[in-house]
Amino acid sequence: MSTSGVVIVGGGLAAARTAEQLRRAEFSGPITIVSDEDHLPYDRPPLSKEVLRAETDDVSLKPAEFYAEKDITLLLGNGARSVDTDAKTVTLADGSTLGYDELVIATGLVPKRIRSFPDLPGIHVLRNVGQSLALRREAADARRAVVVGAGFIGCEVAASLRRLGVDVVLVEPQPAPLASVLGEKIGELVTRLHRAEGVDVRCGVGVSEVSGDDRVRSVTLSDGEQIDADIVVVGIGSHPATDWLEGSGIAVDNGVVCDDAGRTSAPHVWAIGDCASWRDEVKGQVRVEHWSNVADQARVLVPAMLGQDAPAAVSVPYFWSDQYDVKIQALGEPEATDTVHIVEDDGRKFLAYYERDGVVVGVVGGGFPGKVMKVRAKIAAGAPITDLLG
Ligand SMILES: Cc1cc2nc3c(=O)[nH]c(=O)nc-3n(C[C@H](O)[C@H](O)[C@H](O)COP(=O)(O)OP(=O)(O)OC[C@H]3O[C@@H](n4cnc5c(N)ncnc54)[C@H](O)[C@@H]3O)c2cc1C
Repeated sequence: MSTSGVVIVGGGLAAARTAEQLRRAEFSGPITIVSDEDHLPYDRPPLSKEVLRAETDDVSLKPAEFYAEKDITLLLGNGARSVDTDAKTVTLADGSTLGYDELVIATGLVPKRIRSFPDLPGIHVLRNVGQSLALRREAADARRAVVVGAGFIGCEVAASLRRLGVDVVLVEPQPAPLASVLGEKIGELVTRLHRAEGVDVRCGVGVSEVSGDDRVRSVTLSDGEQIDADIVVVGIGSHPATDWLEGSGIAVDNGVVCDDAGRTSAPHVWAIGDCASWRDEVKGQVRVEHWSNVADQARVLVPAMLGQDAPAAVSVPYFWSDQYDVKIQALGEPEATDTVHIVEDDGRKFLAYYERDGVVVGVVGGGFPGKVMKVRAKIAAGAPITDLLG
């Protein structure tokens, strides 16, 4: 490689993990992280949890000294605007150009907004630390929040706002929170958890209008009901941050299209993390939006880039979500369409096995960390569900 080295575009977990992994693999050339944010690469899970609840402000993945020690250059507050894959250059927001030998795209996601909503103070989305702090500031004086969308982030925000003493209405067009990911049975247990904490959970209904004056004042549901609100949080999902790749020729289709090691359609260009759609032998292109997937991908991408032997891909994916005192954990690949066997339920905590074609494909626990982890080997082995159910 020439002196341009590896340029990583993105300032989050995927960028940091890629850089770390490169140094761990004894890559000694230049590494440059280019981020449109002013912060050191930081962790996002606490944004809807500890940061929102004002329990911490420190979310940096590593201190500045780490990057200095490892000779990793950070170009912060100067995002990438375009890439020229023939010239092997990236143009940044300030007009400067950076050459690369290998380029890694790690730009994450942009939260979706509801276009018909007016642009009023008090309407929030949550993806970065500034947005978390802004929501926290407003929550301090708020009486009632409407959270639109009961996916993981919506549910976590609802839980954190309740802990801050805010009344919360959680609005979800599906029959239950998390139903599209984990199925209705688990969704109902999650509804029960939130209701027990005083959240007004409204399922099977959407939001048709938001109104206010100098700030948001009320939300009208699709069934016509009007709810007063000081805060509206929109948690309806995100799309990959790939607009800056337009015209580059790099294939994008619900994320940057990659092979099973993160290679994109352009030579010497790779993609990783939430913005990347990696090829899976069985499922085709898959884009994962979970934390532990990032390190798993870095352990495959970096050796592929350096021409080293890669470890076998991780066979048991994992994610978690903290809601109140209940850690919801999923191992394997549970899907809403699987047969769900609830094997523990104490009225708050729960454990469920997911079965597909007679085989255990996943486990989801709420408040049962040890029992979730015990199922890993069965999932990895593709064991029959009867092994677990007896
Ligand atoms: C509020 C919240 C809570 C979460 N909680 C959990 C959880 O409990 N469990 C779990 O498994 N996962 C959780 N996740 C998901 C997890 O955080 C992500 O999977 C992880 O952050 C993905 O890392 P990434 O680097 O791909 O993307 P990101 O962390 O989003 O980083 C992308 C970075 O690229 C920057 N960028 C974008 N465009 C450009 C550009 N053109 N030029 C330069 N920089 C650019 C962005 O500003 C950002 O800094 C949560 C996510 C959020 C937002």
